[in-house]
Amino acid sequence: MRPRLLLLGGLDPSGGAGLTVDAMVAERLGVAALPVCVVLTAQSRRGFAGCSPVPVALWQAAARLLLADAPVQAIKVGLVGDANVVREIAAFVAEFVPDVPLVVDPVLGATTGGFVASAELLDAYRDALLPLATLCTPNLPELHALFDGEPAKALSLGCSAVLCKGGHGEGAQVVDALFSATGRQEWRRERFDIGEVRGTGCSLASAIAAHLANGSPLSNACATAVAQLAQVLAAMGPAAADRLPRCLPLAEWPTSAS
Ligand code: PLP
Repeated sequence: MRPRLLLLGGLDPSGGAGLTVDAMVAERLGVAALPVCVVLTAQSRRGFAGCSPVPVALWQAAARLLLADAPVQAIKVGLVGDANVVREIAAFVAEFVPDVPLVVDPVLGATTGGFVASAELLDAYRDALLPLATLCTPNLPELHALFDGEPAKALSLGCSAVLCKGGHGEGAQVVDALFSATGRQEWRRERFDIGEVRGTGCSLASAIAAHLANGSPLSNACATAVAQLAQVLAAMGPAAADRLPRCLPLAEWPTSAS
């Protein structure tokens, strides 16, 4: 049986981000994707019109049925958007899948705008979900909003490791840095002049979770996923003439597992 990855996150009907991206990347990496939607969104690359939580009892029933079928080897949490749902996810993980590697991508906004994180949402991540996480994958704005820009604060909450993504930074190089109890490790690449691209955060976190589900150690999982995303971005070419954000060409995601 292929390793199974439980995906808790949001549905973006345009397929630019969220569960569709998560599932496609996982499947490219030989992992069975189990997408459970906790929030519905109305969006496209032209904008984010709104989101609404799925009833907790419904997504929990879906997740419990999946777990009753067979164990999962990793879990990835993407867009949640609501403090109460973050707390419900934390309680669910603690009760039903406490020993499974958990990757939390703390989504606090969308490339297209239109979704702003509340103080309650930040508190819920910090108090309830991140203490359970094997890895948290903030971009630079998320790192500042959640941890005042200090990865050590994430570790002090109980999160085992933090991958700080440098894509939102400036300068000719993008630096992604992994912090854990064993120290700091970083990966550098050139910054590509390709305009805004949707789904980079989702796909990176899902690839890491898929590599973990395949049995990779965390640092290998991060190294491989970072390199795979860079490979896909490098092949994208210049921004579209309409300047709207583009979606990642997921069919180009490498199929090799780490
Ligand atoms: N919508 C959903 C459902 C997501 O999961 C995410 C990111 O995880 C976003 C929107 C925001 O993604 P982006 O900033 O790539 O547009």
